[in-house]
Amino acid sequence: MYDLIIIGGGPAGLTAALYAARGGLKTVVLESMMPGGQAASTEKIDNFPGFPEGVSGFDLMNSFYKQALNQGAEFIFQQVESMELSDPVKKIITTEQTLEAKAVIIAAGSKPTFLGVKGEDTFHGRGVSYCATCDGAFYKGKKVAVVGGGNAALEEGVYLTKFASQVYIIHRRDEFRASHIAVERAKENPKVQFILNTVVEEIIGSDKVEKLSLKNVKTQEKEDLPVDGIFVYVGTQPNTQFVSGYFKTDERGYIITDELLRTNIAGVFAAGDIRNTPLRQVATAVGDGALAAVQVEKYLSETEKQK
Ligand SMILES: Cc1cc2nc3c(=O)[nH]c(=O)nc-3n(C[C@H](O)[C@H](O)[C@H](O)COP(=O)(O)OP(=O)(O)OC[C@H]3O[C@@H](n4cnc5c(N)ncnc54)[C@H](O)[C@@H]3O)c2cc1C
Repeated sequence: MYDLIIIGGGPAGLTAALYAARGGLKTVVLESMMPGGQAASTEKIDNFPGFPEGVSGFDLMNSFYKQALNQGAEFIFQQVESMELSDPVKKIITTEQTLEAKAVIIAAGSKPTFLGVKGEDTFHGRGVSYCATCDGAFYKGKKVAVVGGGNAALEEGVYLTKFASQVYIIHRRDEFRASHIAVERAKENPKVQFILNTVVEEIIGSDKVEKLSLKNVKTQEKEDLPVDGIFVYVGTQPNTQFVSGYFKTDERGYIITDELLRTNIAGVFAAGDIRNTPLRQVATAVGDGALAAVQVEKYLSETEKQK
C-alpha cells in the first residue's frame, strides 16, 4: 500500500514526487514512457527560471527525475489503464498489475490534437510528425511545413530551420496566439515563410508525404505545396482516456479542480496540463506538482486523525 500514487512523470508528476517523498510519503510514479513528459522532448526551454541561457528540455527533466529518485520516490514504467476510486483505498490498474494507495495525483498531461485531415493517419511517421525535436533531423536540406499559430508552432518552426532548407508556417488566421518574441524570431529567420489565412485540406503522397493541398480561407483559392514533411502544432487535449467518467471536466475534457487542486473525488488531486488551468507550461506544472503533494500530506494527516 502506497501513501501516494502519481500518474504521469512529466514536470508536474516529478515535482509532486520530489515533494511527497521528501515529506516522508511512500510515493510511486507510474509513467508509460520516459520521465519528463512533453518537456523532455522540447529542444530548448527559454522560460524556466534559473537558466539565463535556456536549457535543454531533456537535461532539465533528467535533473527533475534524479532529484525525485534521490528523495526516495519509486518509479514504475507501466501505463495506467483504469482506476477504482470510490473507496478510501484507491486502486490503480496498469497494464501489468493493480496498485493501491491512500491518495492519487493525476498528472498525465496532454497530447497533440490531430489536424483531422485526409492523409494525416496514413502518413503518420512517414512525413507527418507532432514532435520537431524527435523527427527534425530527418529533414536535413528538405522542405517542411508547420501548422499552427501558437508558441509551440512558431518556436518549433524556428528550431526546424536548423535542418530544413525551408520551413513554411501555415496558419488559418493572420494573427498569432504565440508571444510577440516568438513571432519576431520566426519573422527574422530567412528560412521561414508564412502562409496565412490558410488551412491544410489534405496531405498527399505515395509512400511518404509529397505535398499538401491548401485552401486560402479568405479567397477560397486552392494550391498544392510540395513538402517532405508536416509538423502539426494545433493544440493539445488531455490524456484522460483512463479516467473513465470519474471526474468533472470542462468542455474540452480537462479535469476541473479547486484552487487546492482537489478533484470532485476525495483523496484524488490533479496537477499540470491535465487540469483546467489558464496556462500550460513547465513553470505552472511545477507549481501544481508542489501544491498537490502538500495537499496530499494534509489530506492524509486529516484522514488519519478521523480514525
Ligand atoms: C512542442 C512543445 C514545446 C513546449 N515548449 C515549452 C517551453 O518552451 N516552456 C514551457 O514552460 N513549456 C513548454 N511546453 C509545455 C510543457 O512541456 C508542458 O506544459 C508540461 O510538460 C506539462 O507538464 P505535465 O507534467 O503536466 O504533463 P506532461 O509533460 O504531458 O507529462 C505527462 C506524463 O504522463 C504520462 N502519461 C500519460 N498518460 C499516462 C498513463 N495512462 N499512464 C502512465 N503515464 C501516463 C506521459 O507519458 C507523460 O510523461 C511545450 C510543449 C510542447 C508540446
